[in-house]
Amino acid sequence: MAAKAYVVKGDTVMIRRGKERGKRGTVKAVQIEAGTATVEGANVVKRHTKQQASRSSNMGGASQTGGIIEKEAPLPLSVLQYVCEKCKAPSRLRRGRSTDGAVHRICARCGEPARESAKGA
Ligand SMILES: [Zn+2]
Repeated sequence: MAAKAYVVKGDTVMIRRGKERGKRGTVKAVQIEAGTATVEGANVVKRHTKQQASRSSNMGGASQTGGIIEKEAPLPLSVLQYVCEKCKAPSRLRRGRSTDGAVHRICARCGEPARESAKGA
């Protein structure tokens, strides 16, 4: 059973299992190959880092000169539940085809099409 990645970057999801069950957050990234996704503010792990020659920061100025950094660890997609932006409720997504033949993700609860993954955003 190939797990289809219904969740895309930018979606709001709720965590269904684990210590942070019920928590909601925004998907920061999806690792399709690994079947995981990182969610803003969820499953944060603290990493102790050694002070080392600072690489050019790509994190926009967060001070990371050794010490502890907090980072969201990937969560399995199976524990993430899509939360519809319109009905604000955890809901299932189904796939629907619009008149132009494109496949869209549709909220099974209210029928609202989910926003598509913003490519290159
Ligand atoms: Zn909905």
